[in-house]
Amino acid sequence: TYVVTDACIKCKYTDCVEVCPVDCFYEGENMLVINPSECIDCGVCEPECPAEAILPDTEDNLEKWLELNTKFSAEW
Ligand code: SF4
Repeated sequence: TYVVTDACIKCKYTDCVEVCPVDCFYEGENMLVINPSECIDCGVCEPECPAEAILPDTEDNLEKWLELNTKFSAEW
């Protein structure tokens, strides 16, 4: 899955939301999040993010962000 990280906080450009083929972006408390169980790993959103906040969860040290993405997307 891909995860939204801290660069998104208070940014909320929605370019990523518009390109996601499965609509798995949701509104978190002060940032957007990706629902990890809906994300199909297509990677289309990553280059669309003006804040470069979206990363694949294969990168290091993203556990905390993956947890937050899971938590906030589950509230919908
Ligand atoms: Fe949506 Fe693809 Fe980005 Fe996953 S990787 S959030 S499916 S655009």
